[in-house]
Amino acid sequence: MKPASGKPARFLTMTTALALALVGGSTTFAQNAARGPAAVDGARIVNADKEPGNWMTTGRTYDEQRYSPLKQITDKNVDKLGLAWTYKIDIDRGVEATPIVVDGVMYTTGPFSIVYALDAKTGQLKWKYDPKSDRARAGEACCDAVNRGVAVWNGKVYVGVLDGRLEAIDAKSGTKVWSVDTRYDTTRSISITGAPRIVEGKVIIGNGGAEYGTRGYITAYDAETGKQDWRFWTVPGDPDKPAENKAMEIARPTWTGRAFVTQGGGGTVWDSMSYDPELKLLYIGVGNASSWNPKFRSEGKGDNLFLSSIVAIHVDTGEYAWHYQTTPGDAWDFTATAHIILADIKIDGKVRKVAMQSPKNGYFYVIDRTNGKLLSAKNIIPLSWSSGVDMKTGRPKVNESAEYWKDPEHKPHLVQPAFWGAHDWQPMSYSPDTGLVYIPTHIMSAYYQDLAKEPPRRKFKSAYQLGADAGMVPEAEKELRELANTWSGKLTAWDPKTQKMVWEVPYKTIFNGGVLSTAGNLVFEGTADGRVVAYSADKGKKLWEQPANTGVMAAPITYTVDGEQYVTFMVGWGGAFSTFEGGISLNAGVLPNAQVLTYKLGGTAKLPDFKYKYADHKLDPPPLTGTPEQIAEGQKAFGANCSQCHGINAVSGGVLPDLRLLSKENHARFAAIVYGARVMDGMPSFADGLTMQQVEEVHQYLIKRAHDLKDSPTREPRAAQQP
Ligand code: CA
Repeated sequence: MKPASGKPARFLTMTTALALALVGGSTTFAQNAARGPAAVDGARIVNADKEPGNWMTTGRTYDEQRYSPLKQITDKNVDKLGLAWTYKIDIDRGVEATPIVVDGVMYTTGPFSIVYALDAKTGQLKWKYDPKSDRARAGEACCDAVNRGVAVWNGKVYVGVLDGRLEAIDAKSGTKVWSVDTRYDTTRSISITGAPRIVEGKVIIGNGGAEYGTRGYITAYDAETGKQDWRFWTVPGDPDKPAENKAMEIARPTWTGRAFVTQGGGGTVWDSMSYDPELKLLYIGVGNASSWNPKFRSEGKGDNLFLSSIVAIHVDTGEYAWHYQTTPGDAWDFTATAHIILADIKIDGKVRKVAMQSPKNGYFYVIDRTNGKLLSAKNIIPLSWSSGVDMKTGRPKVNESAEYWKDPEHKPHLVQPAFWGAHDWQPMSYSPDTGLVYIPTHIMSAYYQDLAKEPPRRKFKSAYQLGADAGMVPEAEKELRELANTWSGKLTAWDPKTQKMVWEVPYKTIFNGGVLSTAGNLVFEGTADGRVVAYSADKGKKLWEQPANTGVMAAPITYTVDGEQYVTFMVGWGGAFSTFEGGISLNAGVLPNAQVLTYKLGGTAKLPDFKYKYADHKLDPPPLTGTPEQIAEGQKAFGANCSQCHGINAVSGGVLPDLRLLSKENHARFAAIVYGARVMDGMPSFADGLTMQQVEEVHQYLIKRAHDLKDSPTREPRAAQQP
C-alpha cells in the first residue's frame, strides 16, 4: 500500500489504515463513517474473523466460542497491561453484560437494562438509554436486576428489558425505534435478563420466570419492525386444546395430569443461544421445571420435554429440528440454559460438527449438532445426584439419594451440585489453539426437601413457587460459615476430546466470571473475590492480576481501536448468589460497585475510589418485643417473600440492604416500605402478598435477627461493615 497523494492529512489516514491492517482490523475510518454506527449484518458476523478488532455479537461469533484471534497482547507482555479507562455504571447491582464493540463504539448494559454507548478508546459516554423497566415488578425476577447485554444490527441496538419488553434503539442517537411486550400472559412473572441474538434478520429473545410459574418459549421478531415472526414453546400448553405444532406433539405425552398448565411447566430460555449459518439451525438452552417438585408438576412421571434440554430449531420457520435432554424430569433447577459452544473438532480421527455445553447438572456434553446425537458426557465435578450417563440411551443414571420427592418422611436431601450447578450462565470459552474449553466451575451442594402437601398456586407474583424447600442454611453464624466454606469455585480447562481436566485454578467461592480466550495464549477471567486475572491458555499459569474493587461475574471481551488492542471487564457484584444466599456469598468479601474497566498495554489510569451505598447502615435494633409465635410466622413469611433478594435468614450479601441494619426511620415506616413506598428503588409492593399482621410478624423476625447478630460471639464481618 502506498499513499495516493502527497497531502500529509491523507498520508496519516493511510498510515492508520495500514496499521489497522497489520493488527488485523480490516476497516478504515472512512469506511466506518460511511456505514454509520452498528452497521452489522449476518455477513459481517459470519466473517467476524476478517475483522477481529470488532466484537459484534455476544459470543463474538455465531458459534459463541468467545475466542479472539487478536494477539497484540500475549503471554509474553500481558504483565504490562494497565487500565486505559474506566466508566461508572449508574446502579450498584449485579453486572453480567458482555459488551459489543463495533467500529470504535462499545454498547453495553447495566442493572435494570440501562444501555450505554461508549467511545471504546476513551470510555466517554456517547449516549445512554434507560428503558425505564417497571420497578414495581423487580420482585418478579428471580435473580437481581441483571442484564447480559445487547445485540446490534443495521444501525440499531437491541435490549431485552427486565419487565419483559424487547426494544430497538437507534445506534446513532440512542432513541427508541420500536418496543414490543414479549410476555404471553401479563398475569405471570415473566422477565428478561438475557442478550438477544440476531440471525437472518430476526431478533430472538427468550424469558425468565420458571421459579414463579410460567411456560417457556422464545420468540423471533423482525429486526427492522419488531413484528413477531415465530414463537417456539418449550413445554406443552393445555392438553384439552390441540398441540400448537410438531414439537408440542412430541412433548405432550411426556407430561402427566394438568398441574403444569396452572404452574406453567417452566422451561424458560433465559440465556444461551448459538447459530450454525450453514445448517441454518438455532440452538437454544432450555431452563428448569416449574414447579421444581415433579410430584406437583407431572404426578412425578415422565421426562417432561423439553425441560433442561438443548433444542435445535430451523431458524427460517421456527420449527423443531432435534433435541437432547440433559436432565429428564428435572427436580433440582438443573437448567440447560448454560452457554452452548459450536466447534468442528476431530474425534476418533474424524472432524465432527459439535455443540458443547456444561449445564447445571455437572456433566460436560459433546453433541453432534447436525442431529442431536450424544457423542460423549463426563462430569466436571463429583456428583451426588447421578452416577454417569448411559451412552446407549443418552440418559443420566439418577441416584435414589437425590430423589427427595419420593421420601415418605419428607426429609431434607443433600444434592451436589445444586441449583446454581457445577456451571451456571457465566460463559465458558473454547480456544481452537489449545483445543480446550475454559469453564467457570462451581462446587456446591444444597438441601432439597419435599412438601407433604401441594401448596396452592399463589396469585401474588413476587414469590417463588417451587413446590419444595431448597437451599436451607443454618441461622447460627458459626454453622453458616462452616457451610459457606464448603462452597468453592474453580476455572477448569477441559479437553472436550478426551473429556478430561487439563488444568484448574481454585477459587474461594462460586460465581466467578465468564471467560475469554485469545490467540495470545491467554485466558482472561474476573473473580468473585474482586480480581481480574490472565492465565496462560495452555498451562493455566497466572501471568497478570489487578484488583477490580468488586466481584466479577460477566465475561471479558477484547477489541482494537486505531490499531491498539484493549481488554474490557464489566464488573459489579450482585445476581442470584449474593442476593438469595447472601450469608454464603459473604465469603467473596466484596461489595457491589458497577463499572466498566478497560485495559491496554502500558495503560496508566487509576481505579476510581468507591463509596458503598449502604456504608451508613448500622446495627441498632429497637428492643425485641415480638412473641415467639410472631417471630416464627415472620420467619416463614420472610422466607417465602423476602429471602430471594434480602438473603435467606435475613443475612444479606450486601447488594441489597441487610434488613438487620434498618435505621430508626425505616423501622418506623417499615409497613409503608413493604407496601410500596420505595418502588422506584426496586423494592416491590407487597400490598397483595402480605397482610398487615404478616408485615408486623416479618418486622419482629428482623428485629430478632438483628439481636442475634448483636449477641453473636463470632460477629463475622458483614458486607456492610467492610470498608
Ligand atoms: Ca432456575
